[in-house]
Amino acid sequence: RAKLEGRGRWCFYSADMVNRSARQLQLEAALRRAEERDELALVYQPQICLHSGRLVGMEALIRWKHPELGMISPAEFIPLAESSGQILSIGAWVMRTAVHQMKQWIDEGLPSNVVAVNLSAVQFRDPGLPELVQKVLDDAGLPPSCLELELTESVAAHNPAEAGQMMDRLHALGVRLSIDDFGTGFSSLSHLKRFPIHTLKIDQSFVRDISTDPDDRAIVQAIIQMARALRLTTIAEGVETDEQAAFLQSHGCEAAQGYRFCKPLPPEEAQAWVQIHTRPNSAPRELVLPATVKA
Ligand code: C2E
Ligand code: MG
Ligand code: MG
Ligand code: MG
Repeated sequence: RAKLEGRGRWCFYSADMVNRSARQLQLEAALRRAEERDELALVYQPQICLHSGRLVGMEALIRWKHPELGMISPAEFIPLAESSGQILSIGAWVMRTAVHQMKQWIDEGLPSNVVAVNLSAVQFRDPGLPELVQKVLDDAGLPPSCLELELTESVAAHNPAEAGQMMDRLHALGVRLSIDDFGTGFSSLSHLKRFPIHTLKIDQSFVRDISTDPDDRAIVQAIIQMARALRLTTIAEGVETDEQAAFLQSHGCEAAQGYRFCKPLPPEEAQAWVQIHTRPNSAPRELVLPATVKA
């Protein structure tokens, strides 16, 4: 049949595309059973205050270990789960697991009580979301102030009025809202003053070259200044070096997460890292940053 359609057409159905969609179908089918087969897990990445060295929160990130294909990145399977609708049950599983984990950590004396959970735009548009959040918190006995929901700017792009109402409902429960990957979504800045947002997470694409690229430095400084003026806190994502951390610290960024401090780890390992590297009342040796930094 390829011959009938001519040579040019044949190129269009490249082996790569066929393989990719076969993989997508395979993953979609496997994902439907992943939860019951115990293939999903959460890892946690500590969020560190750049001024005190204290733990300010833990971000939960999903992992999927496929029995034959190994680890599948959330960047690959979350979009599939969104288009198939499975994101609602996976997202509920993530929230339950993360909230129960934080409750257990609080009982064990972890020096922060905030867990951050990523929300898909599909979850965010589900009218049942506030009830789900309330139920998960009630079941675990975790106060709402201990849960931070990470949204992306895209949630407001489609229908800002509806997005604002959902944020108000979530805010009314007492949970915190943060904007993930801030700066990548071209969202209207007027949303920032109207929506009940607590934290801006500075996207790692701006942090990566902060030591060398004057434009990235300018963008990051502007985000921090704007956040402060609007009384929002800032967390920088993807901080990998001392230099990046020092720049962020000296420009007033509140907190950071990234490989410089700790990569996302299974719960026991994340907890052990916190016990070794952070102290409730003093900046730990590991986290001491240069006192003065040239801008
Ligand atoms: P995100 O929420 O912006 O998470 C940050 C990503 O950067 C994570 O990738 C994390 O492992 C990675 N990262 C952390 N520190 C560093 C660093 O220093 N350098 C670099 N290069 N990367 C770092 P991950 O875990 O692969 O997650 C990718 C994205 O998938 C997340 O981006 C989030 O959008 C989505 N995701 C992850 N878990 C969930 C979930 O439970 N639900 C939903 N809806 N989305 C999720
Ligand atoms: Mg996130
Ligand atoms: Mg992010
Ligand atoms: Mg992201």
